[in-house]
Amino acid sequence: MSRSKAPRPSIPRSLVLTPHQLAAIVYHAEDAYPDEACGLIVGKRPVRGRCVASRVVVSANLATGDARHRFEVDPALRLRLERELRGSGEAVIGHYHSHPDHPAAPSARDLAEAYEPELAWLIVAVEAGKARACGAFRLEREAKRAHALALELAGDTKSTAKARPRQSARKAK
Ligand SMILES: [Zn+2]
Repeated sequence: MSRSKAPRPSIPRSLVLTPHQLAAIVYHAEDAYPDEACGLIVGKRPVRGRCVASRVVVSANLATGDARHRFEVDPALRLRLERELRGSGEAVIGHYHSHPDHPAAPSARDLAEAYEPELAWLIVAVEAGKARACGAFRLEREAKRAHALALELAGDTKSTAKARPRQSARKAK
């Protein structure tokens, strides 16, 4: 695939989730504790850095052996999703992971492994099994810098946030 033909990636400036999507992420983060949870965020290609999620996709954490301190989104899941989204106008626009008993800020390892500067990062801090805080960021690997993104909650008319969030997350569109 020719890199020059790819549309210029937009720098994320804000991340917009519905309360329903955020609840699904929080549920996953608490459920996975004390391991890190992770997953992908799908949405339309961002316009002026505004990353609006249409769907949250739960992944297994494949960081075997050290899932308490690391995360690795299932590459097969990502590939499947990218294929499914081809031509749809949507793409993977970000991902989320949790920090068990650590703050909701990118770790040195997160910065070192941030190979896709166009992706929004959502990090959920989980203390003793309860989500305490979350933050959205874009990461500049070479400059080793994290920039906070505005995290916005969009209107969610269905208001099913608390009802079986995990299952909803898989179906949510
Ligand atoms: Zn992290």
